[in-house]
Amino acid sequence: MNTTTIIDYLKTSDPSDLFAKAKQIKAETVGNKVYLRGLIEYSNRCAKDCYYCGIRVSNTKVCRYDVDEQSVLDAAEYAWRKGFGSIVLQSGERRSREFMQKIEGLLNQIMTLTNHEIGITLSLGEQDEDTYKRWQDAGAKRYLLRIETSNRMLYEKLHPKNHNYDARLKCLETLQNLNYQVGTGVMIGLPFQTLEHLAEDLQFFQTMDVDMVGMGPYIEHVDTPLFSTVGALRATPLQQVENRLDLTLKMIALLRIQMPTINIAATTALQTLDLFGREKAIEIGANIIMPNLTPLKYRENYFLYDGKTVVKDTFDDTIADLEVRLAQIGAEIGYNLHGDSLHYKSKP
Ligand code: SAH
Ligand code: SF4
Repeated sequence: MNTTTIIDYLKTSDPSDLFAKAKQIKAETVGNKVYLRGLIEYSNRCAKDCYYCGIRVSNTKVCRYDVDEQSVLDAAEYAWRKGFGSIVLQSGERRSREFMQKIEGLLNQIMTLTNHEIGITLSLGEQDEDTYKRWQDAGAKRYLLRIETSNRMLYEKLHPKNHNYDARLKCLETLQNLNYQVGTGVMIGLPFQTLEHLAEDLQFFQTMDVDMVGMGPYIEHVDTPLFSTVGALRATPLQQVENRLDLTLKMIALLRIQMPTINIAATTALQTLDLFGREKAIEIGANIIMPNLTPLKYRENYFLYDGKTVVKDTFDDTIADLEVRLAQIGAEIGYNLHGDSLHYKSKP
């Protein structure tokens, strides 16, 4: 698809053809199974200062935590026993030897505890090659590192000067060279973002030949510079909530058509804007859901953005509810399966 066609689809008020095509391609490739990745938000300590993020280092209002070791192990074991197939360990970015070793230790313990059966995805930011390698040796098989926006100028507007687009890109390449299953993604509806930028993002995923993508709407957080400068204004049409939702679904459908065999996540941010946002995304292209397994006492401190869903139900209830919702759209959970990216598996 060329840029003009993509932009036309992003603009259309009737995406039914687009969604029908994406549905059909999804049925023919990844099928109706949805794979679960139990999300453990390991720590909200972060050394970086992204202008859009609620847990950026300069936000002094945040009560910082690391999930205690036993709780991480309990969450991983729960995921394994329930047949989730995989977990994701996510946190703010820290680049110390201590952090590297802590994660390495956790990975080793999780692998032993789960009889080497659980699939582990990491989302711990930019690290050096040695760190990525050690975490891989300890059991991690996938890595998520969103480029946030593939447009360099927009990236620079959203980050302080010491955050480097090229360094982030280099990390994605390092992860690919190490043979991780690599995922990236962007935020949709950012201040200053245009439809051309979103078309570029789709191009970027293709050029980078990534295995997985997680894209979600940008959601403002009041204690961030992006909100206090421009975010509050909702200045561009792209920033209206309903447009962000609509655009995210269209982006997912376009991506499924463009890269039929990759894994695409229906993100938590989507659920924040619309109670059924994730299910809508699954219907038209996504095939991954990341149920939150962060222990409740830590959860309310992992606020990347406002209004983030903090589910108070038990984990069992959450999954039972998800099963019902998925059945309603003809999808089913792929229990006890890693649900690896078919795109990755078909690489030489
Ligand atoms: N620190 C790591 C992982 C945790 S942040 C990293 O940055 O890679 C995970 C993701 O949360 C980020 O990649 C970003 O895309 C998303 N995020 C942060 N602030 C957000 C906001 N205000 N709205 C929507 N998503 C946001
Ligand atoms: Fe830190 Fe990630 Fe938030 Fe940036 S997006 S401030 S790296 S947690």
